[in-house]
Amino acid sequence: MKLLRYGPRGAERPAILDSAGQARDLSAIVEDIDPALLEGNFAALARLNVSTLPAIPSGTRTGPPLSHVGKFVCIGLNYSDHAAEARMPIPKEPILFLKATSAVCGPDDDVVLPPGAKKSDWEVELGVIIGRECRYVSEEDAMRHVAGVCVVNDLSEREYQLERGGQWDKGKCCETFNPLGPFLRTADDLVDPQSVSLRSWVNGEPRQDGSTKNMIFPVAEIVRYLSQFMVLEPGDLINTGTPAGVALGNPNVSFLRAGDVVELEAEGLGRQRQTMVQA
Ligand code: ZN
Repeated sequence: MKLLRYGPRGAERPAILDSAGQARDLSAIVEDIDPALLEGNFAALARLNVSTLPAIPSGTRTGPPLSHVGKFVCIGLNYSDHAAEARMPIPKEPILFLKATSAVCGPDDDVVLPPGAKKSDWEVELGVIIGRECRYVSEEDAMRHVAGVCVVNDLSEREYQLERGGQWDKGKCCETFNPLGPFLRTADDLVDPQSVSLRSWVNGEPRQDGSTKNMIFPVAEIVRYLSQFMVLEPGDLINTGTPAGVALGNPNVSFLRAGDVVELEAEGLGRQRQTMVQA
């Protein structure tokens, strides 16, 4: 299933994409796409005849596909080509940082560059959403706790991230710095999370062209690893790292400025498009 949320910010309604790609309103069936739905039995949704549900008019805003994101954990430098361009060593264990859930926005919302920001950067990633509580889980068992995956732009203000005395969080948490969606693709029709191509463009020029097959730590290992340090709960979100092709470390590529348009795509998971605006 491809679950999503439509409507004005803060008043989104649950929806589902039908087999033709038409979004259909689910609000008569479920309250929201939220941790309670993920934790509960949403197999019932799979048996719905979605073609009978009301179609959502085109042009309606798409929100993030999950409300009430719980913990928001990110993996840094999870692709060797990105570690190389950032001139940082290949990590021996996953690098963790936490991101504020208030950074989450819709996939096509404007991205607000904070005052004085000079080094804002894009990062197309596979986002993983937890569906079942787990602790100390094995790698073999890990994927049973994943509700689904989606596209993420893990925007980063590099000066705040790297030149302001630590930690990385300062450059990652700005409002609108985590466009999510357009939809949550549920685990029951999950694409192989280790064979998703990831691409990004800035003002139409290709920037990133990678694949999750090149992750240093695959998704099952990330879930296992995180569960050694914290309880993972339904609605928790994991950004799993970005491949090469960002502005950091590439002197011929400009950081983002107001007016720039960033597009991002993950195979089978849809496409995002954001315009940069100045705070
Ligand atoms: Zn990232």
